[in-house]
Amino acid sequence: RKIGYAVVGLGSYATRQIMPNFGGCDHARLVALVSGTPSKLEKYGAEYGIPQTHRYSYAQFDRIRDNPDIDVVYVILPNSLHAEYTVRAAQAGKHVLCEKPMASSVAECRTMIAACHKAGTKLMIGYRSRFEPYNRLAIELARGGHVGPTRLITAEHGFPIKPDQWRLDKALSGGGSMMDIGIYSLNAARYLTGEEPVEVSAVESTDRADPRFRSVEDRISFVLRFPSGVQANCISSYSSAHNGYRVIGTQGWIGLEPATPYTGQTMTIRKDGVTAPRTLPPPVRNQFAAQLDHMAECVLTGATPVVAGEEGLADMRVIEAIYRSAAERRTVELTA
Ligand code: NAD
Repeated sequence: RKIGYAVVGLGSYATRQIMPNFGGCDHARLVALVSGTPSKLEKYGAEYGIPQTHRYSYAQFDRIRDNPDIDVVYVILPNSLHAEYTVRAAQAGKHVLCEKPMASSVAECRTMIAACHKAGTKLMIGYRSRFEPYNRLAIELARGGHVGPTRLITAEHGFPIKPDQWRLDKALSGGGSMMDIGIYSLNAARYLTGEEPVEVSAVESTDRADPRFRSVEDRISFVLRFPSGVQANCISSYSSAHNGYRVIGTQGWIGLEPATPYTGQTMTIRKDGVTAPRTLPPPVRNQFAAQLDHMAECVLTGATPVVAGEEGLADMRVIEAIYRSAAERRTVELTA
């Protein structure tokens, strides 16, 4: 059988990237919608053939408990609402796929993990790049020492943010570029090494006179030191346009630029003085469908998602340390 998903929050990412991709899934299907806007429930309900009985407002959300067609709740709301809806979904007995960043704080992440554990439901975070072929190959090559043992990683993610949106309101976003886009640099450094950083040092630059940055940060550069000795130099930005990373070893480097967009990943490898592109055949399922199918397969088989709640928590621990390092202008140690 196909696992039934309820999508919560009918914003840009849900309606443009996620909902259209259920069509490419083998094990997942869209069965319910949750929104505060009746006209969106009407529009997308009609478009995806979701009956009235499977359309919910936020006030009606807890009634999903009585709908056996819903197996998984996919939370695609502003960041500060992730914890509340994850906990309520778990209490309704549903598995949860929650967008990145997992929440606004380590404390919220722990509450979410505990709620799903108590309910006996699975929790996965929407780290779609783990289902994207070039990123998967980069992980394999990096960890396999293709260009020699990794010594350095550089990772950059940024875009010039448009004004007047929830991402620029700390109460809804939990933070600025680091929470939204810098998290891709951090997550990549962690998945390319397979290690957890032990030390972080960060520098922030934000023009507080820019109306976009009244409550959240613009740019942060951060350096992560890993137990094996790998150093990752990372950038997060809300005012410059870049997306990529390089894994640099003793014999050359593996580059992905861009690395984490919705499409168009491009890989270049330089080894022993020779630079060459590396191309893969188009995947059978894109990263969005593969992500949806992975959670569905975990529900069907009882397996744990490769990007479970603990992954989101691990990133959030480092993000809090990055903020502390930047604020206190010192290196912060991360203990196990
Ligand atoms: P969006 O603004 O387009 O959508 C957010 C939705 O939440 C809107 O429909 C809005 O009406 C609704 N909402 C409900 N309560 C709200 C409230 N109190 N205030 C504001 N909006 C409220 O945002 P988005 O770009 O779709 O992002 C949603 C989530 O998805 C975020 O956590 C974001 O980080 C994540 N996201 C992930 C990716 C990815 O590639 N994995 C890409 C984009 C967004």
